[in-house]
Amino acid sequence: MAKKKITPMMQQYFEVKRNLPANTLLLFRLGDFYEMFHEDAEIGSQLLGITLTKRSDYFMAGIPYHAAEQYIGKALQAGKKVAICDQVETPKPGKLVKRSLTRILTPGTTIEDSQIESSRNHYLAAFEFEDKVASLAWLDLSTGEFQIAQARSIDDLTPVLTAIDPAEMLVIEGEENRWRAMAHDGSIHDELIHFLATRAVTELPGFRFDIDAGAQTVMDTLGVINLEGFGIEKTNPALGSAGALLHYVTENLRFQPENLSSIREYSSDDALLLDPATLRNLEIFKSTRGTREGSLLQAINKTTTAAGARTLEQWLIAPQRSLDELQRRQNSVETLVASPLAVSEIQDLLKSVRDTQRILGRLQNRLRNPRELGGIRDTLNQLPGIRETLSQFAGTALDRIADRIDPLPHLSELLNRGLKDELPNNLADGGYIAMGYDGALDEMLALTTDNKLWLSNLEAEERERTGIKNLKIKFNGAFGYFIEVSKSNLGLVPEEYVRKQTMVNGERFVTEALKQKEKEIFHAEENSKRREEELFAGLVSATLEESAALAQTAAALAEIDVFCGWAEIARLWNYCKPALDETDAIEITQGRHPVVEQMLKQDSTGLASAQAFVPNDSKLSASESQIHLITGPNMAGKSTYIRQVALITLLAQVGSWVPATSARIGLVDRIFSRVGASDDLARGNSTFMVEMNETANILNNATERSLIILDEIGRGTSTYDGLSIAWSVVEHLHRDTTSGPKTLFATHYQELTQLATHLDRLENYSVAVKEWNDDIVFVRQVVKGAADRSYGIQVARLAGLPQPVIARAKEILQKLESDDATVAVSSPVPQAKPRKKIRVEDNKDQLSLFG
Ligand code: ADP
Ligand code: MG
Repeated sequence: MAKKKITPMMQQYFEVKRNLPANTLLLFRLGDFYEMFHEDAEIGSQLLGITLTKRSDYFMAGIPYHAAEQYIGKALQAGKKVAICDQVETPKPGKLVKRSLTRILTPGTTIEDSQIESSRNHYLAAFEFEDKVASLAWLDLSTGEFQIAQARSIDDLTPVLTAIDPAEMLVIEGEENRWRAMAHDGSIHDELIHFLATRAVTELPGFRFDIDAGAQTVMDTLGVINLEGFGIEKTNPALGSAGALLHYVTENLRFQPENLSSIREYSSDDALLLDPATLRNLEIFKSTRGTREGSLLQAINKTTTAAGARTLEQWLIAPQRSLDELQRRQNSVETLVASPLAVSEIQDLLKSVRDTQRILGRLQNRLRNPRELGGIRDTLNQLPGIRETLSQFAGTALDRIADRIDPLPHLSELLNRGLKDELPNNLADGGYIAMGYDGALDEMLALTTDNKLWLSNLEAEERERTGIKNLKIKFNGAFGYFIEVSKSNLGLVPEEYVRKQTMVNGERFVTEALKQKEKEIFHAEENSKRREEELFAGLVSATLEESAALAQTAAALAEIDVFCGWAEIARLWNYCKPALDETDAIEITQGRHPVVEQMLKQDSTGLASAQAFVPNDSKLSASESQIHLITGPNMAGKSTYIRQVALITLLAQVGSWVPATSARIGLVDRIFSRVGASDDLARGNSTFMVEMNETANILNNATERSLIILDEIGRGTSTYDGLSIAWSVVEHLHRDTTSGPKTLFATHYQELTQLATHLDRLENYSVAVKEWNDDIVFVRQVVKGAADRSYGIQVARLAGLPQPVIARAKEILQKLESDDATVAVSSPVPQAKPRKKIRVEDNKDQLSLFG
């Protein structure tokens, strides 16, 4: 079979295609379209819902270039990479236009506004585990935030990884399989495997993670000669991951990222760690249904700007253990709580502030668009007002933030003078430099206006001269300027007109004078466009010269935004400023669950009082009141109560105020939260195994500084197994020491309450219910002492079980509870097992179960 000859253009296509990484769609610019060919066309048409066309021997599918951003976003969301091949010269008829690869977009490296969520960071991360060191590097290319972390085990880094939730992960080839095997044999937690399964993973060869090379790459990219200024040693193993990351970004951008200026090491010593199960269980970033709605993040987010929302999320990712920083945040909120007027004033001003950080990121990474530069101008215009409003807080923590806001009067003046009010999105459109900014440009534009006038004069003159009333001068891309005469008037056309084209309804002509003018017009337009682009480049570089000040200003505004939002929430929901200290105690008066409280209020249309959240006190300490065992019927409010203590503690360590009338929080180092298997529906794992796994993790890692929330642990197995495990877990947490991790344990095992008799730091509590004619009413109050009954049947009735079923259940219960087997019943009931009792013997060491 004779080999088919391929066209020069297809040759060009294959040359580009050959060098692309796997899983990459190539978008090949052809006139006004980006085309995909062959297999890419088939995949692309499916993925993007566009038409697939069959050519002689290949498939083709195209998207209009002006809609490309949208389609690319869709492909990235599906985990694809997209390579853009553009025309890099003006096409000339009959000649193959030069094309080259401009960029490769990947889920983690895209920075276009429409392809990333504005109120969240968009991270790319690289992760590695070797020689007993786990290392992680992550980067938000859109904002320039760049961090590393290292730990002795993979499990210590999965919390960070889950919290930053990167869009794409870089790992060494084959590692994922190795980790899967490790998870399988139990040497690491399976969280990492779950995590990798839900995002785009890109494999790189191992040498890309070399530490020495990585250190060099990091220094080159940041433009520094050592990393001491950042407190990072050049042997830091995480620099291997950082190097892999930068290499990958540079390869995809086709140039070194230009908005990176610093790198930070994330240290678990300064941060309060929350592992993935705790994040899920406390619904920090997402509710158990997987939505933002119902999460803590949503409940405490009243930011006005996207940058503010991102800062809030960053703070929640890394709660603090530094009193200084926490008090700075608390005090800022306090100042604003006292001035609601200032809050709404600042929030109003913030509405006109644009996302400076991300705009800078795009400008620095060569994505330039006039409207975005206008965004910097608009932001600068708000700064004097914001500083003015903040000036009333002289001497407070807010004042110090205000100092970081730099109004940059010179740059502001320049951008206001240089840019038009309304700006196009596209540089190629022209028309963005203001009149009066540049004399030369004004002259060029005047010339264009003159030329337009000349054309309309010509039209009038020619109509007059030839007597053709409907003679028109028109323009199109193919022929330039021409005179159009309709069929009926063709007889009147003077002989110096040169025919260019015959139409159905008439003909098109040019004249010598018109051709001459056309040249002048094109020339003037080209000149003015070039001049505009030059001037724009000048404005951009003037802006980038101030990028450090702009970034610092943006960060200060984002913080103020978070504080204004917190102050508003604090006033709206009656939060208090918690006292923070280094003691081992947590004392909360009239605490509430921040999310449930808001949901109840929103649900209750008119039923506010019946539905209002019932506050409760809590008082724990590592050395005295260490373990609280909470019993009470289903639906009483146990889970809500124990979580509210964890959330209040967490909020305090983010620097926010908390939902309580007063609180004193001794800073904790970790919060653990686990739910008994059958409640953890979101995961659908071999649930009991997972539950025990996680419990083991807590027992191994909790310190006296930790706070532990256990909800119905032991439920995932048979009653006696579960009870035994719960029993010994509690014992282990208490131990024979003088203090231990503060623990709230909600359980339906009544038997556990007996532990109080010999564990002196354990206390029984219950969530009270009232009985009312054999019905129960939930009062949601946590009281001292164990619950006496479980009220299961009453709860079942409230849940709508049919009356006959309820009656029968009562009958059976009575029989089971009675030692008298002769109770008369209407039909046989199951034989009660001899009811086993737990006996607590006097001798502590010989505690025996089920004696
Ligand atoms: P349990 O864990 O005891 O079964 P939950 O904590 O799940 O009970 O609470 C059941 C429901 O009761 C929650 O969905 C919530 O709407 C409501 N609830 C819980 N605590 C309170 C409270 N303190 N005030 C008002 N309603 C509450
Ligand atoms: Mg519960």
